[in-house]
Amino acid sequence: MSGVPFVDLGRMHNPLEAELKEVFEQILSTGAFNLGVELERFEAEFAAYCGAAHCVGICDGTEALRLALVAMGAGPGTEVVTTPSTFIATVEAVAATGARPVLADIDPATRCLDPERVAAAIGPNTVAVVPVHLYGRPAPMAELREACGEIPLLEDAAQAHGADLDGRRTGTLGRAAGFSFYPTKNLGALGDGGAVVTDDEDLAAVVRSMRHHGSAADDANQHVRPGRTSRLDNLQAALLSVKLRELDRWNEERRTAAARYRDALDGLPITLPQDDPPGGSQVFHLFAVELDDRDRVRDELRAAGIGAAIHYPNPAHLNPAWSELAAPGDLPAAESLAARTLSLPMFPGIEDAEIDRVAEALRTALG
Ligand SMILES: *Cc1c(COP(=O)(O)O)cnc(C)c1O
Repeated sequence: MSGVPFVDLGRMHNPLEAELKEVFEQILSTGAFNLGVELERFEAEFAAYCGAAHCVGICDGTEALRLALVAMGAGPGTEVVTTPSTFIATVEAVAATGARPVLADIDPATRCLDPERVAAAIGPNTVAVVPVHLYGRPAPMAELREACGEIPLLEDAAQAHGADLDGRRTGTLGRAAGFSFYPTKNLGALGDGGAVVTDDEDLAAVVRSMRHHGSAADDANQHVRPGRTSRLDNLQAALLSVKLRELDRWNEERRTAAARYRDALDGLPITLPQDDPPGGSQVFHLFAVELDDRDRVRDELRAAGIGAAIHYPNPAHLNPAWSELAAPGDLPAAESLAARTLSLPMFPGIEDAEIDRVAEALRTALG
């Protein structure tokens, strides 16, 4: 029986090869690599895709989150509430502003921030709350808005390009959103990339300035605030424009694959991802199941040639660098997810027969 890769980007890129090469050749010939028309075009396209007024292209997703947080007032002496069940970048972005990350536990059903825990974690110095749409499932934004009152929400939408809730796409569900275009994300560059998406014109202007050395909007040589080099390259922006046209189809293929997994895994002693939230849909950045004896099962799948992976083996506070944020046992739902979660192969172009092979191998491992 042949194996199944965890992810195969070639199945997305091969059909686009001629177009992607053409983009590269065109940018090579113009010699315009930064802050050019390709970046402006992609920003307009991605803002329109999300249904938002503004998109500002940033060098990576972590930096997009950091810049949005600074623009929302995060800094030394402030606190930002977020989830321990995430890629560590969410917590790093908060800490990089000088704000203190405050971790609230997840709801084990959605695997996203629990609104009640968030309400309890908010204090007088809280300036923002960062929900993560984990694995591509939109966090319960209406309940979080309710729990947060006046405190703004920054979506970490790095895993949820195109997911929607109550008729709105991610990027428009909070004050602002940070996206990553890391190659394996639902929309990925051919390298690193990110974006801040928002309806807030002032916030977009501050982020736009900070990504380019704090320049004034009308004079790049007037530095009106501290900044640095945080721009998205023209080349990556132009490549992303090509790939953005395929995003809805790719997300649909992920949903179709998830539905087949649901059928194929029926009856096994594992927890499947929850169904779509009412009034919304998820985009399955990952297809993560939960099970006992996870490490053994992962090893058996790998021995059978099945690319299974763990996202993430440690909740934020159980990493050595972040152990001061909470003690072991403080965030039991996040700790349980980390101990039990297993990501199965999921990517656009995965074949039905491959999903069936994964399911069969899992059935054998659980035998
Ligand atoms: C990928 C990711 C990020 C960071 O994005 P980079 O582009 O790698 O910096 C942030 N948050 C989450 C949840 C992610 O999955």
